[in-house]
Amino acid sequence: MKSQRKPDAIMFDVYDTLFLNDTDAWQRAFQQIAEEQGLDITGADLWKRWKKHEVGFRVWRTNMDAPETSPPFKSYETAWRECFEKVFEEDNIPGNAANAARRSVTHMAHRDPFPETVKALSELSTRVPLGVFSNADDAFLRPMLDEYGLTSKFEVVESSESAAVYKPHPRAFKHMFAAMQVEPGKAWYVGDHLYDDIRGGSEVGATAIWINRNDAKPGPGDATPAHEITSLMDLVEMFDRSK
Ligand SMILES: [Mg+2]
Repeated sequence: MKSQRKPDAIMFDVYDTLFLNDTDAWQRAFQQIAEEQGLDITGADLWKRWKKHEVGFRVWRTNMDAPETSPPFKSYETAWRECFEKVFEEDNIPGNAANAARRSVTHMAHRDPFPETVKALSELSTRVPLGVFSNADDAFLRPMLDEYGLTSKFEVVESSESAAVYKPHPRAFKHMFAAMQVEPGKAWYVGDHLYDDIRGGSEVGATAIWINRNDAKPGPGDATPAHEITSLMDLVEMFDRSK
């Protein structure tokens, strides 16, 4: 990794960058929803049917060919409720969509940090201002960061909900860098997602760093990161080697 200029700030994605957010966790949440509501369906099956709609929401919400034509913002809780409404209606499941969406929000506040997350952020925060922009509702993002004592490590905690726009829309990144009072060209943005994080971060001129924990292979058309790392501790070394 060649040395480069020290950034004025390092900003992070949260889910699957700082905290593990895997399918198992989602299916556990959906199992709880099915049991609480007495539904005759497994959590895994309910999640699979719901996810089909939720993926559609993720595609629908941002038009990167003409970002300003993207539809009006809606929170995850609203979007998730609508996905539950569709599943319950099309599959004739007598569920309560609003309660199911609320339960999903509560669950998203409970994810485990990766083993090195707290240490890496503690070390980096003594060297350079840190911030967060997560595609998340504040109702789950903020309690999760609080639970692990991480809120105080960040100068800025912003979300799609606080910015009323989702990554990779350029307005999400501009909102974040304005809140951080840093020029994008002097910041690193670290994330796990090649579309949301690397494409979005690169397009506004930040140094986009891809955390690739599972040896994923980029596909055709994927954005190219400025750097690739496998652990947040790599950032500490990268920062110390930069000039
Ligand atoms: Mg992520």
